[in-house]
Amino acid sequence: MMNLSKQTYPFQNQPLPYAYDALEPYIDQKTMHLHHDRHLQTYIDNLNKTIAGYPQFHSWTIEDFLRNISFLPISIQVPVWRNAGGVYNHELFFQVLAPADTATGSFAKVEELLKDFGGLEGFQEQMTDAALSVFGSGYAWLVMDENGLSIMTTANQDTPLAGNRYPLLLIDVWEHAYYLKYYNMRVEYIKNWFSIIHWPEVIRRYHRYR
Ligand code: MN
Repeated sequence: MMNLSKQTYPFQNQPLPYAYDALEPYIDQKTMHLHHDRHLQTYIDNLNKTIAGYPQFHSWTIEDFLRNISFLPISIQVPVWRNAGGVYNHELFFQVLAPADTATGSFAKVEELLKDFGGLEGFQEQMTDAALSVFGSGYAWLVMDENGLSIMTTANQDTPLAGNRYPLLLIDVWEHAYYLKYYNMRVEYIKNWFSIIHWPEVIRRYHRYR
């Protein structure tokens, strides 16, 4: 089995790194099935279909597509951007979640990572505001670049990679991520999401970038 981020064409979905019900009660099992088995799967299938007839790109990874979109024929740039973005964003979203009892990691390390935001509490406030500010479908992110850490949002399946930013953490605020359990209460979903952030993985990504 190989992470989607290391694969080339044809891309193949990988199992979640935990059971479908592992994030209960914060994210319900049915939402996880739909999100992983149908939404992510659809992005993978559509990306494979879009590039099937272009063997010159069959050695490209998802990140290669997202960082070099202008090298593709104009006719496939939009579908590749949307579907490769959908694959990239979802794989990372699932990776940086964990069951609540294993998610926390070292409180001191998390506080240190988030010191520019006023620690975890300040980060929660600012990340919540960002996630609530996404109009329609998109994501809020904790990203890193040469200037340090910052919070940003993206629309649809856009990624932060284009600006040479390295994502550490993201929350999916497309309705499919929460509607079955939370209906239109995005704010409740965001609040609960903080309980299942896999901070050890976020910190691992931080050290990998540095
Ligand atoms: Mn999603």
